[in-house]
Amino acid sequence: MSASTTQIKAYIQAADAVIREHAEEVTELDQAIGDGDHIANLKRGLAALDALAEELGRMDWSAAFQKIGMSLMSSVGGASGSLYGTFFLSMSKAMRDKDMNLPNLAEAFSQGVESVKQRGKADLGEKTMLDVLIPVANALRQAAQESWGLPQAIETVNRVAEAGCESTRDMIATKGRASFLGERARGHIDAGARTSQLMIGAIGDVVAKNSPSA
Ligand code: ADP
Ligand code: MG
Repeated sequence: MSASTTQIKAYIQAADAVIREHAEEVTELDQAIGDGDHIANLKRGLAALDALAEELGRMDWSAAFQKIGMSLMSSVGGASGSLYGTFFLSMSKAMRDKDMNLPNLAEAFSQGVESVKQRGKADLGEKTMLDVLIPVANALRQAAQESWGLPQAIETVNRVAEAGCESTRDMIATKGRASFLGERARGHIDAGARTSQLMIGAIGDVVAKNSPSA
């Protein structure tokens, strides 16, 4: 089952739009405890994906995720480039010969998160994007196991992503650049947690809009 160009384009554009809308806010967060380049890194990655949208739309999901992962690895740079790259390469492996549906997506997303944990040697509670990605993976798996409808799945994913993002505010960082700050990192949301939550929310909105049952 191919991903379809319009669908892929809509996801990429939704992610790009939400990142641009929140660029200033995220840059402030990133300047407080990172090196301030996170938004520029993501914009480069999303521009690279946008240029590939036609090609991605002709591929099946596994091939599309592989191309996305490789493109992010080479275009984004920074810690987030290799982490997002790894995430999509692992999703690609998990989606091989599979249709896109909630159970398969939940499994692939979980595999992706697992590989991010391994690659970054990080877990829940370390003030990173994983504080959003891990709860989202759990919510997707629960949604699949309990056969939730899309609206409930999307609403729950959004809720746990927002809570996960907010939870990073009071954490100290033990991984990435913010770990050098020790206690001074407390009081600021992690930029990578915020952008992953924003992009997941934006993509969920497009899924909800395009799905007749949602
Ligand atoms: P860099 O830190 O190299 O400048 P970015 O600014 O693009 O890269 O991304 C920083 C974000 O990456 C952080 O806000 C955090 O969410 C995430 N991150 C950093 N290190 C790790 C890690 N080891 N595991 C998971 N996420 C990480
Ligand atoms: Mg940075």
